[in-house]
Amino acid sequence: MTEPAISADAMLVHAGARPGPGEPAVPPPVLATILASAGEPRAEDYGRGGNPTWTVLEQALGGIEAAQAVVFSSGQAASMALMLALARDRERIVLPRDGYYNARVLAQRLRPHGAAPVLVDLGDLAEVKRELADGRAVLWAETPTNPLLRVADITRLGELAAAAGAPMIVDNTVATGLLQRPLDLGATASLCSLTKSASGHSDVIAGAVMTRDEALADELRSWRTLGGGILGPMEAWLATRGLRTLPLRIERQSANALAIAEYLAGHRRVTAVHYPGVGDGAQVARGQMPRGFGPLLSFEIDGTAADADAVVTASRLIVPATSFGGVESAWERRGRWQGETAPATLIRLSVGIEPPHDLIADIDQALAQIRPIG
Ligand code: PLP
Repeated sequence: MTEPAISADAMLVHAGARPGPGEPAVPPPVLATILASAGEPRAEDYGRGGNPTWTVLEQALGGIEAAQAVVFSSGQAASMALMLALARDRERIVLPRDGYYNARVLAQRLRPHGAAPVLVDLGDLAEVKRELADGRAVLWAETPTNPLLRVADITRLGELAAAAGAPMIVDNTVATGLLQRPLDLGATASLCSLTKSASGHSDVIAGAVMTRDEALADELRSWRTLGGGILGPMEAWLATRGLRTLPLRIERQSANALAIAEYLAGHRRVTAVHYPGVGDGAQVARGQMPRGFGPLLSFEIDGTAADADAVVTASRLIVPATSFGGVESAWERRGRWQGETAPATLIRLSVGIEPPHDLIADIDQALAQIRPIG
């Protein structure tokens, strides 16, 4: 009789833990920068080439997407390695106009070292096709996008990329591999800032690339070792500890976020709600995010940027802060960042694991800060 397969969720809980008698039941961080070695050296003998605590994290992340994972010191370090690895002998890097703004800034800064950035609307497949067609390109998709939560159809984009011979990257930070599996839908690599939901406690900056392409994984490891964008063992350990509870957290956060999106949609001072589970992208989102729509939403208010600032600072529970994916709810007026193109009154809300009625009560009293019309 064959053994039943153990689910990825269960494997995450037990990441790296196969103790023998008398060994720690959960793997402790290995802080050593050198491993005892003589003769033929291995990369991991020196801590910039490898560390047993990264290995635990990489195996856990790889298990989620049935892929190899390569971890970095941040999501941006992971993006930089990917851009350097894939864009250097190509002509263009095709990015969403409304995605994470630092991906656009980074692509622009790397222009002398690789392909030129070209901005598109990922929902406009004809535009994407046009930009991929004439010339060697990389498609840098992001779905749902930060901060507008726009949903792009990964399968359709993957078909276009494959027809053009272009590798497709999907920035999967908002969903994580638990809610969305880009590699199953045609992506060459899936990128995740572990700083967000994957670690989940707003106490570690880290990033990872997941890929089934062996040569690309080797290339990324080589950029990491040479460039030195490595993750410290304590960060790797914290990220692994967070990852163990990702299935529980993201399920609760997705349910909370959906309830809040529905509440906001009915509020008379809210002019737009952006969440993958409601509105235009919902049908595609239901297909490619079958387990939930994640913790992040944004909304626009009927008022001014100053009103939006007043709403954010009026919260009693929700933390006024950037970033997302933590257990604690946090929000900010997104347009306060230079280089961000979000509408002026857009508030991005990262929904945590608090009871939903507490969150809705807090949002309700904060929205009362918007000055009356007329
Ligand atoms: N990708 C997305 C969608 C992000 O929101 C972020 C950070 O906000 C990053 C990548 C970069 O990650 P990090 O801050 O870990 O460098």
